[in-house]
Amino acid sequence: MSDDIRKRMFAEMQQKILFDSARDAAYGYADTAQQRNVFPTPRALEDLAIFDEPLPAEPGDALQILRQLDEYGGPATVAQIGGRYFGLVNGGVIPAALAVRWLTDFWDQNTPLYLSSPIAARLEEITEGWLRQLFALPESTVAGFVSGSSLSILCGLAAARQRHFATLGWDVNRRGFVDAPRLRVIASRQAHGTVAKALALLGFGIDNVEWVEADEQGRIRPDRVPRMDASTILLLQAGNVNSGAFDDFEKLCRAARRVDAWVHIDGAFGLWAAAASRLRHLTRGIELADSWSFDGHKTLNTPYDNGIIMCRDRDALANALHAAGAYITYSDNRDGMLHTPEMSRRGRIFELWATLKYLGRSGTDDLVYGLHQRARQFADELEAEGFEILNDVVFNQVLVACESDALTEGTIRHIQQSGECWVGGTQWRGRSVMRVSVCSWATTEADVSRSVAAFVAARTRARGA
Ligand SMILES: *Cc1c(COP(=O)(O)O)cnc(C)c1O
Repeated sequence: MSDDIRKRMFAEMQQKILFDSARDAAYGYADTAQQRNVFPTPRALEDLAIFDEPLPAEPGDALQILRQLDEYGGPATVAQIGGRYFGLVNGGVIPAALAVRWLTDFWDQNTPLYLSSPIAARLEEITEGWLRQLFALPESTVAGFVSGSSLSILCGLAAARQRHFATLGWDVNRRGFVDAPRLRVIASRQAHGTVAKALALLGFGIDNVEWVEADEQGRIRPDRVPRMDASTILLLQAGNVNSGAFDDFEKLCRAARRVDAWVHIDGAFGLWAAAASRLRHLTRGIELADSWSFDGHKTLNTPYDNGIIMCRDRDALANALHAAGAYITYSDNRDGMLHTPEMSRRGRIFELWATLKYLGRSGTDDLVYGLHQRARQFADELEAEGFEILNDVVFNQVLVACESDALTEGTIRHIQQSGECWVGGTQWRGRSVMRVSVCSWATTEADVSRSVAAFVAARTRARGA
């Protein structure tokens, strides 16, 4: 690195003009978050052309880079921190966690080992204990902190595979799947797409899965689950990604435990129902499973990206994810990389820890139950306006339809174009439906009513078209 540019970078670090500008731009963004179009305007999208340029030959100007991103990038964002984005299952952001993120960005910690970041290791250990308490999971349960459920599902299944093969005397890390004893995987046809991806990545093969029918709410049908055995992995779901429905954990986990089958629960957003006293009944029996994957960035509203794997059998998880190298010094303290597939990892634990510390038990309960209340309000108001609600709104998801698929699809298009709010579409039991996911603390009663008005206006337009 030339002295010239190094000097400039030291100055940028010391003088803070750059960071003050970033802060001002961020505040400007936050102040308009409620007013801006929820999805970028066509103009904002066209303006993205400004970013089409060849890789710069020379170092640039930091302030100019920041300003360009603020001026042209900001308008092309989805207004996720406002209260009227209802797509995917996207959480908002808790200010305390965002502030902690700003601070810890300066720390730039790499968190594979205690020796690479003692503070991260300590907070991972503490947060692991808090989560165990919050979800009432077994004492032996450990946590790994990853980017999201896509990865935590992979970890859970890797641990399951590890333990089943170990029981059969087969070292899967060394010998792989070739000539291995056969493991069975049972999953619902309503399992999330990332479950199939994890099974594919791990070599189970999607066509080898024993797929089970779901009922009209999207819950796995216990009467259709094949007989399990000690080489079976059963995948259950806390929160169907469309309907928000919960599987019958108690019944199925008990059946699995009797024969030493492994149960993994994909609870990406729904596991948090266990943290709300009035919704906890939905998760009855989860503590009988073997591994649980869920997100911080959905229901809990941590910043992105934040996912968690919890596993009752620490050795199975660590043996599945273990890496060795002469330069890796494990300690007697917690070394996070034993519980995650990654080695280098940002300190996302700071944000998860800060969120839980800020909300506490009652704040978490309040947040989760509040999402449910807003979803109920959505369903009630939409029904009163003549929309059809297709699911039991047990959690935060609402499935909505008009008289015909064409009208539903047209209504979705007009809602998305309105900039008033944003919902996506999905297929549900052979119909095109609108899929509302209430997932941000920032969504108020007024936001829901305003969004319902946008639905009504969009349907009128779609009828006219
Ligand atoms: C979102 C989601 C996932 C994937 O989680 P990411 O955090 O996006 O990787 C898996 N399962 C369910 C049920 C989900 O809602």
